[in-house]
Amino acid sequence: MTSTTRIIRTSLILQFLLCGLFTFGQNATTPTPSSIHQSVQTHTDAIFDSLVKIRRDFHMHPEVSWKEKRTSKEIAAYLLSLGLEVKTGVGGYGVVGILHTGRPGKRIAWRADIDAMPSDAPDIAWRADIDAMPSDAPDVVDFESKNEGVRHICGHDVHGTVGLGIANVLASLKENLEGTIYFIFQPAEESAKGAKMMIEDGLFNLIKPDEIYGLHVSPYPVGTIATKSANVYAHLTFMEINYKASNDQDSLVDYTKKIMKTAQTYGPNAKFWDNENLFSPELGVTNPNTIYKDYIALMSDFIIKKSNDTLKIRVLLNASNEEELDKYLALIKNKIETSRYSKELLSVKFNFQKGHPVFFTPLNDKDLTNESIESISGIYGKQSVIPLYGVPPLQISDDFAYFQNSVPGVYFFLGGSNYEKEIVAMPHTRNFAIDEEAIRTGVNYFSSMIIERLNN
Ligand SMILES: [Zn+2]
Repeated sequence: MTSTTRIIRTSLILQFLLCGLFTFGQNATTPTPSSIHQSVQTHTDAIFDSLVKIRRDFHMHPEVSWKEKRTSKEIAAYLLSLGLEVKTGVGGYGVVGILHTGRPGKRIAWRADIDAMPSDAPDIAWRADIDAMPSDAPDVVDFESKNEGVRHICGHDVHGTVGLGIANVLASLKENLEGTIYFIFQPAEESAKGAKMMIEDGLFNLIKPDEIYGLHVSPYPVGTIATKSANVYAHLTFMEINYKASNDQDSLVDYTKKIMKTAQTYGPNAKFWDNENLFSPELGVTNPNTIYKDYIALMSDFIIKKSNDTLKIRVLLNASNEEELDKYLALIKNKIETSRYSKELLSVKFNFQKGHPVFFTPLNDKDLTNESIESISGIYGKQSVIPLYGVPPLQISDDFAYFQNSVPGVYFFLGGSNYEKEIVAMPHTRNFAIDEEAIRTGVNYFSSMIIERLNN
């Protein structure tokens, strides 16, 4: 997860966990899994302690983007020990493991990002609830980072471990599977360039996936996963209006600001801006009627650039979906074109473009999203999957989106919070922590999901 400036405060996560929206863990509604999924769980349980050890080892040796030398070496050695075909040095320290079942069939890719981040990265320094913490704030766990100033506070140590766990489980069940499974261990996600680098370095010449899946740890309760079809984060884009230079620039700027603001779907005092509402059962993203869908929000101050010939007015927008962006563009255009400033107008445009390294959200394939939710909840119970209906108005992205430009797939959130243990898995916070049971959940659910994709 790459974050720019605004992010949620821990308080809202606590509110979410306190609200008791979900019951999690096993309960009476959990169906009895078929024998292969029982084998998945038995095998996951058997390797769980070793996976926790691997996660803690990654956590103690975090490496920032482009420097994941040790991490990738460990990953490659593990995959080789499972008998996978292994390619290293793909787009920097990227590693690809290929599990051949020896039978023809579907080709499924699983992606895990592996880099850590500077513990005093500017994108977390502004957070109000941690202002008082020094930039060298210690880890909240006793297996602390040994690399000064670098920490796994985005959970990629868990992502890498879950990827290895799935590889282990599926390798153990190889005789029962058809097709091919690819494991992509991606470097440099935090720099938002690793996925692109792997692709440019020939990733899709090495492997030819039909579908791709991946996850990010999140503040949802441990034992759950969450996702939605289409974009999982808000579209973040600049809107730019260009005019010919005018003698009356001040009033032109005032007018433009006013219509851009009034076309925003929420006022400055709306509940929409209240982060505490993001996970509220009535207003939040888990409610089908959430206020966090179908919106346009202005996310920055206006940036005014004047030259001899032109006047450029820019603002950063969040849009819940591309249709809202299109509607907003049409509305603003129409208002200016029918105003007294129409003669000065040169263009109204968004610089939103697919593949932009920073402002890009994963776009989940609708059918694959529905099918994967169905298969996981069919095996692990309805309570295991939280369907999402909206996206938060924040500046977050994940370059998993690059893979989805070429291959249809689904990006999931893996719940990692445990309120009883006072664990809040909010990425990019200095007190980020995760309930390691999330590793078991991730390995079980997604091993089973991949099996279902391959065999059905
Ligand atoms: Zn991340």
